[in-house]
Amino acid sequence: MVERNPNFARLQAGYLFPEIARRRRTLLEKQPDAKIISLGIGNTTEPLTPEITKSLVDAAARLGTADGYSGYGDEQGLLALREQIAKVLYKDLIHAEEITISDGAKCDIGRLQILFGSRATVAVQDPAYPVYVDGSIIAGADSGLQYMTCRPENNFFPDLSKLPRVNLIYFCSPNNPTGAVATKAQLVELVKFACRNKSIIIFDAAYSEFIADRDLPRSIYEIDGADEVAIEVNSFSKSIGFTGVRLGWCVVPRKLKFADGTEILQDWTRVITTLFNGASNIAQYGGLAALTATGRQETQTLIAYYRENARLIREGLQALNIQTYGGVNSPYIWAHFPAQKSWDVFAKILNEAQVVTTPGAGFGPAGESFIRFSSFGRKADVQEAMRRLRPVLA
Ligand SMILES: *Cc1c(COP(=O)(O)O)cnc(C)c1O
Repeated sequence: MVERNPNFARLQAGYLFPEIARRRRTLLEKQPDAKIISLGIGNTTEPLTPEITKSLVDAAARLGTADGYSGYGDEQGLLALREQIAKVLYKDLIHAEEITISDGAKCDIGRLQILFGSRATVAVQDPAYPVYVDGSIIAGADSGLQYMTCRPENNFFPDLSKLPRVNLIYFCSPNNPTGAVATKAQLVELVKFACRNKSIIIFDAAYSEFIADRDLPRSIYEIDGADEVAIEVNSFSKSIGFTGVRLGWCVVPRKLKFADGTEILQDWTRVITTLFNGASNIAQYGGLAALTATGRQETQTLIAYYRENARLIREGLQALNIQTYGGVNSPYIWAHFPAQKSWDVFAKILNEAQVVTTPGAGFGPAGESFIRFSSFGRKADVQEAMRRLRPVLA
């Protein structure tokens, strides 16, 4: 018999979302007619926009012609797309050659964990998106894992003076699950910390398009010196609803070096070319369309739809005297239920209002007593959910 990779035995049983799905099924067994509304999982719900849909259809049709067919492309992605990302999204703060196109930000995080291997020491925000911790455990890089507490008391920004020296710092802004967005001053502090300690920041900017406030940084590279200490992952999943189409990118600046002087980009390219054969060519043409003037407008319209949902949730909860965070420059609302267990609040909302949310404790110990509400949903469902919540939470 083959021995099981021991790292898997160290993963916490019952990953958050399967457990939520199990509880939802249990409710449906008891009440088969329950009309469940989900404000739980961070999955997009609105259809693709016209310009982007057309580009996907056209790209697929070209593949069906002798002249338009193409097989494998560059493993790093279409050069035109890398150039447009550099220009439109980064205002040329970084170069096209430092960008690799992928099948999504989560997939890139997994490949980055392979790049740094099992000897890397790691710090994550607490609460956090599960792949940072679970992926580190699978890669065997979890001994000495540091949790950086992010709660209202510290404005959801960790006390870096308490953080020992680590190799990798995962940082997500706008944050999933808390909805907090780091200010410029906070990111300056983070970059300085990384410079001092020779750490690398893995900056997850998957929700950058939700930032409306012009003073808030959308990329770590808006901070001086970040190109010497930070890798950034981002994706088209949340901005244009490509959660199912799959398209993302990763920025590894050339100035980023290993201790022996090797460019990290060199080894990253090796990982991409060895373990990944490039993103779907159809999806990449969709990404290109998203970066045209029309595509950018459509992105804003789509984001505005979810932003309105976020407002309805935020104001609905506040009217019930529930303290909320986030939901302004992010699609998530982080609601505080002091002195209550988040799984208990989750169960009450599910069983009495038939609304699925996400219990904060599932994102880490500091998420206890919080519930994450997601604005990804149909507006009519959000309105109905808020109506149902009134008698339950009042
Ligand atoms: C949704 C999400 C992603 C996006 O992952 P993809 O693989 O690009 O779909 C990345 N990071 C966070 C924090 C997310 O919530």
